[in-house]
Amino acid sequence: MGEELKEKLFNKKVNGWESVTEQEKEEIFELSKNYINFLNKAKIEREFVKESIKLAEKNGYTDIANKQNLKAGDKVYFNNRGKSLYLAIIGDESIENGLHIIGSHIDSPRLDLKPNPLYEDSELAYLKTHYYGGIKKYQWTTIPLSIHGTIVKSNGEKIDICIGENDEDPIFTITDLLPHLAQEQMEKKLKNGIEGENLNLLIGSIPYKDNKISEKVKLNILNILNQKYGITEVDFTSSELELVPAFKARSLGFDESMVAAYGQDDKVCAYTSLVTMMELQKVKNTAVCILSDKEEIGSMGNTGMESHMFDFFISEIINKMGINRPNVLDKVFCFSKMLSSDVDAAFDPIYAGVSDKLNAGMFNRGINLNKYTGARGKSGASDANAEYVAWIRNILEKNNIKYQISELGKVDVGGGGTIAFILANKGADVIDCGVPVLSMHAPYEVTSKYDIYSAYKTYKAFWME
Ligand code: MN
Ligand code: MN
Repeated sequence: MGEELKEKLFNKKVNGWESVTEQEKEEIFELSKNYINFLNKAKIEREFVKESIKLAEKNGYTDIANKQNLKAGDKVYFNNRGKSLYLAIIGDESIENGLHIIGSHIDSPRLDLKPNPLYEDSELAYLKTHYYGGIKKYQWTTIPLSIHGTIVKSNGEKIDICIGENDEDPIFTITDLLPHLAQEQMEKKLKNGIEGENLNLLIGSIPYKDNKISEKVKLNILNILNQKYGITEVDFTSSELELVPAFKARSLGFDESMVAAYGQDDKVCAYTSLVTMMELQKVKNTAVCILSDKEEIGSMGNTGMESHMFDFFISEIINKMGINRPNVLDKVFCFSKMLSSDVDAAFDPIYAGVSDKLNAGMFNRGINLNKYTGARGKSGASDANAEYVAWIRNILEKNNIKYQISELGKVDVGGGGTIAFILANKGADVIDCGVPVLSMHAPYEVTSKYDIYSAYKTYKAFWME
């Protein structure tokens, strides 16, 4: 009798794999295979935007600038400077009833080159870096790194760079001290073990053949770059070059149940929402997919979510539907609903001490909702209203989607934020949700294929609602 009552009253937490059919398992693995392939082509935000536009155009999306008028069923996108992307399908209902927005970010922690990066020391050539986002610096030494990004010459000519991904390409690395001579270093606190100013990338060692000059290794490197890309040293000043791990995204485990890859925060949510959007044909509320930039450094700048570029995109939609008048944009936002789809810390049994197990995101339990994020007494959090959480729960439950709700770590242990508050400040109902990640912000992050599939199902159900 107690068992029946327990069955009825307890909030059951079960491993999703236990009820997966053979056919579902195939779908789960297929989705992850495509995700892995996409990640290997799109390691940085610019590449993600490029690949997304290719996919979107194949699926009937048009640059909104090329559309005069918009009506229900139309599919458009807005490319914000090649670094963030917004997509929309116009819904059957009046846009004044609000948008259904799913927003993620496509920037990930990494090392950026400094504006004056190149130097030679002791006949070795290096590039100096400034890290981007929250990293544990020691994790970025002694691993293969590739260089991705863009150099823009003063005449406007753009040179896209990607070195270290093909097997024939050279890679680069940041050295660390050998243990034999690291006594002093090993006594330091972990966070001070590697200094930010020492994250210098080793890039060459052959001197230019000329006895009469100095800095011959640096000259030889510049000569190679000049022959290959037509650039000189000053062109680094107008470049955005990012160092990311040269590792490929792979399946992980004997059972191949997980994905190991760089940049899954937050490309796992970005990819799943993007492919879901590609499958939509008809929606009730206008569906919007945000792939934002700069989340890892506070969402600032004109490609970050704090920028008015997104408002401009929605205004353009309203203009081209021929219904704009004062305050319509405000009204649209105030009636909108949003999933801020960003990854969450997965419970790691090796480091169990930082989590409250009752309120931690677990692998294989499906999409992870966060009612709030923030730190130290929820500071900075966009705390979703109970009514909205109930509305989301209802969608998940009626579509048979496994979900869990969690916090990021124990109270006062740490915390974090997402883009949720930015849309909430415009008046939308917002809740954070996403895929739990192990080793978040490390060069190689781990996710569960079951949870990735669950995110995809959630996004589909939300947009189809
Ligand atoms: Mn994130
Ligand atoms: Mn992050």
